[in-house]
Amino acid sequence: MYELKDVPGKGKGLVATRIVPQGARILCEEAVIRIPHNLDQPSSEKLKKYVCQQVNALTEQQRLAFLSLHNIYPYENAAEQYIGIICTNAFSIEDGETAGGVFLEASRINHACDNNTQKSWNENIKRHTIHALRDINEGEEITVYYLAAHNSRQARQEALRAKFKFSCSCGICSLPPEQIQINDDILEEIDHLDRLVGQRGLQGILSSPLGTLRYLDREIQLYNMTGADDPGLSRVYLDAAQVAIVHGDLARGRIFAEKAVRSWRISGGGDSKNVTEYGALPQNPSQLPLYGMSMQWKRAVDDVPNALGSTEFEDWLWKREASPRSGAQVGLYNRATFPAFSGLPEDRGVDMRLYRGSGQPRQHWCFLAEIVDFEFLARLHMEISDVDGRKIPLFFYTEGRGSELEPARLRRGYTIAILYAQQHAFMFDEPGIRQEDPARVKVKPPNDIRLTPRRCS
Ligand SMILES: [Zn+2]
Repeated sequence: MYELKDVPGKGKGLVATRIVPQGARILCEEAVIRIPHNLDQPSSEKLKKYVCQQVNALTEQQRLAFLSLHNIYPYENAAEQYIGIICTNAFSIEDGETAGGVFLEASRINHACDNNTQKSWNENIKRHTIHALRDINEGEEITVYYLAAHNSRQARQEALRAKFKFSCSCGICSLPPEQIQINDDILEEIDHLDRLVGQRGLQGILSSPLGTLRYLDREIQLYNMTGADDPGLSRVYLDAAQVAIVHGDLARGRIFAEKAVRSWRISGGGDSKNVTEYGALPQNPSQLPLYGMSMQWKRAVDDVPNALGSTEFEDWLWKREASPRSGAQVGLYNRATFPAFSGLPEDRGVDMRLYRGSGQPRQHWCFLAEIVDFEFLARLHMEISDVDGRKIPLFFYTEGRGSELEPARLRRGYTIAILYAQQHAFMFDEPGIRQEDPARVKVKPPNDIRLTPRRCS
């Protein structure tokens, strides 16, 4: 399936000798040397002794292969040389006991930021595997991603130089500057959304499912923009499945779960831990422990609209149709129209589903909160509490720095309404709202607007 060959500018590397289809297992390897967690201090005598024993126990062929691996560290004796080779080539082994291991074949694979394969430790079979993330052509080099996180080009280059002493000139790293910037922005937004969904956790899924689904939808779209079948997709789809299933929607839950499992199969194989754990979820989404904590999205597993085009289907799947029709009666309990802070879009990057090209919002939402406290320093700064009781900062970056508000309305306990409010990540404070347009802010006495849901009669 592959051979070890000279690769221009990279020394040796693995090159496909035939077409390798997406999802194919290219390598499945045992470690020839393992370093336990309690021995991973590079300079300790104990480690040197342990490593020498391990290398001496290799077969002659393995020893020669081991010694021919790349080493970026200087050394003065055999033990230091072995440790240098291990530190340059080791992959992590997530079995709880081992810090890392050397895999003779996998160590030959070079890095690329647009890697075409995924490396992973398979705890079920105790092997390291390499899977094709997309179809690989005959003669194409097989590549993996050496770093843990997807960062900007500059951060990647710095990390690769520091850890592996080389600069990357892969397809993404050698794009024209403006395209590198676009790619960096996409990766940064994915990372930001990832953290946002993580921080909101179960609370976000429960209190603002549509807001959470919107973040996840955006994440998938960003991944698609990079064109990569990134293993990160599976986790986003699993999150989406959880949002749907927790709120009783088994139809969407099943579809999202299928997509998650498909992605794990591609990157880690049918025997990987995630497929073992979640493989049955698409068949029986109600097995998820939190199924039906709310039934506000209740839908039977086979209640999927047919005869939809692919765009319409995606709109249905991600509940993009959920914005209220104009003129419809909307209760204040409607979280799409009156979201909590966690359900607000962010002011970084323009979500084209929420805004037209002119910058006008496509749908309408209004953020309601209670004024907890306020002060007038360089500008008006309020502490406000949203419908979930979460306290957030609100800073007025209007021309009058907040002086546009009627002073008589500046009262603790009064309700502030902000049309099209957005989340802002302040450098100096918790995430909050950075308000620029005074015309979109109204303050009312507390009895004028009720934050609590009215009972339907
Ligand atoms: Zn690169």
